[in-house]
Amino acid sequence: MSKNYVCPNCGFVGQPKRYTKGSLGWEILLWILGILPGLFYSIWRLSTRYNGCPNCEYPYIVPEDSPKGQEIIKKQQ
Ligand SMILES: [Zn+2]
Repeated sequence: MSKNYVCPNCGFVGQPKRYTKGSLGWEILLWILGILPGLFYSIWRLSTRYNGCPNCEYPYIVPEDSPKGQEIIKKQQ
C-alpha cells in the first residue's frame, strides 16, 4: 500500500491524483499536423504532469509522514 498525502490547502488526507496539463485531443491533432509539434506537445505534457489533491487540485501536497504533513494534521485536530 502506498502512503497517504496531506493537502495544505484543503486538509485532504489520502491518495494523490495524477494531473496532466493540456489535452489528449490536442496531442493527437498536433501529431497529425507534424512530428515536431506533436513531439514538443507530448514532452511538455509529460514535464508538467504532477500529483495533486483530488479534492481541490492543489499541486503541492506533502507526504503524511513528513514533518510538514504532521504539522497540517495536528492543526486540524
Ligand atoms: Zn486539497
